[in-house]
Amino acid sequence: MDIRLGNGLDFHRLIQDSHRPLILGGATIESEFALEGHSDADIILHALADAILGALAGPDIGELFPDTDPALKNMDSARIIEKARSFVTDRGFSISNVDITIIGERPKIKPHKETIRRSLSRLLAIDVERIGIKATTTEKMGFAGRGEGLGCLATALLIKL
Ligand SMILES: [Zn+2]
Repeated sequence: MDIRLGNGLDFHRLIQDSHRPLILGGATIESEFALEGHSDADIILHALADAILGALAGPDIGELFPDTDPALKNMDSARIIEKARSFVTDRGFSISNVDITIIGERPKIKPHKETIRRSLSRLLAIDVERIGIKATTTEKMGFAGRGEGLGCLATALLIKL
């Protein structure tokens, strides 16, 4: 059996901007905070796409979607996942499961967990039962502990069909 494991890591700065929505895992989250970035700064989708591409030893999302490209400004990161999924299908694999850890003090993820899982299930076309989401703090240490940013670690397992 050909199985491949990949992981991805992403960070973005947290800001307070009432004009910018907070988007996590493709879902718009009601929050006073937003993430700053060239695209929509969706840390979950970015880490996840890198996990999927990493499992296939493919290019990373920075190579596929350079943040210097003006055409990609405020881009919907669902496009990145779509691209990663096309690599999976082209190489004859399918996504078995993904596991996600969000790192930061705020906003609280728990109330939004099911919304994010449903959104990921739709974007990845896999059952919600195959999507793990959890959050951890850094015990008030470092940038995440001071609430300056959020991080996301994602793992993906792919199986050859
Ligand atoms: Zn990112």
